[in-house]
Amino acid sequence: MKIAIMGAMVEEITPLLETLKEYKKCEYAGNVYYEAEYKGLELVIAYSKIGKVFSTLTATTMIEKFGAEKLLFSGVAGAINPALKIGDLIAATALCQHDVDITAFGHPDGFIPEGKLFIESDQTLLSLAKEVAMQMDKSLLEGVIATGDQFIADEERKNWIAKTFDADALEMEGASVAVVCDALDVPFFILRAISDAADMDAGFNFDAFLESSAKESAAFVMKMLDKLAV
Ligand code: SAH
Repeated sequence: MKIAIMGAMVEEITPLLETLKEYKKCEYAGNVYYEAEYKGLELVIAYSKIGKVFSTLTATTMIEKFGAEKLLFSGVAGAINPALKIGDLIAATALCQHDVDITAFGHPDGFIPEGKLFIESDQTLLSLAKEVAMQMDKSLLEGVIATGDQFIADEERKNWIAKTFDADALEMEGASVAVVCDALDVPFFILRAISDAADMDAGFNFDAFLESSAKESAAFVMKMLDKLAV
């Protein structure tokens, strides 16, 4: 089975490449894709660059060019749910685009005609993640992740996203990856470790916790691969 593992920033995939040690590099469409083998699984790994457009390109490439049959995203996010502290893990049950606004035509926030307001994650991968969390003795929150092309460091905007989409965390790539996988019928799983609280201090916290939180997420994804390899 071929599995795509994707991040947005180099820090999010470096721990994976360090664990795998051996991989082949392939340059395509302005990006680098790393191909590796792990316990009989074929892997394609890449970071997309930040935001919905680049992550759409990378997810599509991983599926259409590299033939990925499942996609796991590993990265960091800003917390909305106050239960989420720095380093805590959240798995998306569903994803939405908080920055889509064609409300002038009577559509709800986040809705694109002929699209879905929320895209649901694959249940089998979510169950697998729950098993991994139990085995690792880690708490894994499941909830809605809201995506937009904005770094949120503002209490008011964060509260609006929380209220409008009942979201637990926010970031900049999950929903676009979900749109691609949903359209191409590829099961996906979006995992994020919290790097900041998406409030006034977010910019300050972000760099301090990016690496350690990205490692938490990557370590969890490696354990999911162990399960998928069985
Ligand atoms: N430090 C980077 C910019 C990071 S943008 C630079 O200087 O270039 C934030 C990244 O982390 C995105 O990939 C996004 O998915 C995630 N993220 C973490 N916290 C976030 C927040 N509060 N708002 C939006 N995205 C966040």
